[in-house]
Amino acid sequence: MVGMRLDADITIIGLGPAGLQAAIHAARKKVKVVAVGKSENSALMRAEVENYLGLESISGKEIIRVGREQAKRFGAELLDEDVIKLTKEGDVFVTITDSDREIRSKAVILAMGISRAKLNIPGEKELLGKGVSYCASCDAGFFKGRPVAVIGEESEAAESAILLSEIASQVYWVYRELKASQHMLDKVRRTKVEMIQGRPVRIIGDPTVSGLELEGGRTLEVNGVFIALGAKGSIELALDLGIMPDPSGMIAVDADCRTEMEMVYACGDVTGNPWQLARAVGQGSVAGENAAKAVLQGK
Ligand SMILES: Cc1cc2nc3c(=O)[nH]c(=O)nc-3n(C[C@H](O)[C@H](O)[C@H](O)COP(=O)(O)OP(=O)(O)OC[C@H]3O[C@@H](n4cnc5c(N)ncnc54)[C@H](O)[C@@H]3O)c2cc1C
Repeated sequence: MVGMRLDADITIIGLGPAGLQAAIHAARKKVKVVAVGKSENSALMRAEVENYLGLESISGKEIIRVGREQAKRFGAELLDEDVIKLTKEGDVFVTITDSDREIRSKAVILAMGISRAKLNIPGEKELLGKGVSYCASCDAGFFKGRPVAVIGEESEAAESAILLSEIASQVYWVYRELKASQHMLDKVRRTKVEMIQGRPVRIIGDPTVSGLELEGGRTLEVNGVFIALGAKGSIELALDLGIMPDPSGMIAVDADCRTEMEMVYACGDVTGNPWQLARAVGQGSVAGENAAKAVLQGK
């Protein structure tokens, strides 16, 4: 039994920066845009951003707050609800939310972000933002001249270690089994990064990180712990539609942010690396613009 029904030209799923930018660009083309999601769950809500063009330092919360107002001012309708089901009936996309609302639209933009793979060890959650980070390219600057550890096995961890080696006083790369490419490993070996095979069991610190304990009792004295274990796209809704993930588990798009299914677009972290604000808003604008054009051509 479905509750309230809404008709739209475009449904946007996700109210982080990618979804909001898509909403702004689509709504400005005077198509009816309904954007669904909980902005408080956006990755950006936990960010202090220093690497976005034209802004020296700004909180992610502020970007989201203003972005939501902009999207509404241009005519997009924002719903603070989660989508639980997405299907296609003929040419119509049917989106069902957790408030039992049904939205029927001609096009869909997927902007659901990612969830970072977790270590699940004590201290990880408690010290997030206090020395624990999942993004070296976002947070490396905060660790200038200080010792850090990178945890991970694949090329993302290698890249993080290399980047940090130019900024931090000491970089330990802790891995269990190396899976990074030989090319990346050769690059790491030309830096000052110290590679340690081991298993992290606890992140120590109060109120900020002061150490990383490894199995066997060794503790690395570090102020930063970068967890680079990859990410998982929130792609269940795409799978419901029949869109298959790419080999890295993300939603593949072309340069116009089109997915493999007609009238379905995707943008932001859910389409892959680098998981960065600038890329999310860039793709959001492309997806919003192209989805609106496609809807207008079909009218
Ligand atoms: C701690 C931290 C620091 C960061 N620092 C920086 C930085 O300094 N610079 C930088 O460029 N980037 C930084 N980032 C990365 C940046 O925040 C992301 O790249 C950006 O937020 C991605 O935007 P997005 O819209 O694709 O995804 P998100 O911002 O994650 O938004 C996804 C949205 O989709 C919604 N959603 C998910 N599933 C559903 C569903 N089923 N139904 C409805 N809605 C759904 C979520 O609730 C959320 O609203 C940081 C990230 C973190 C976690």
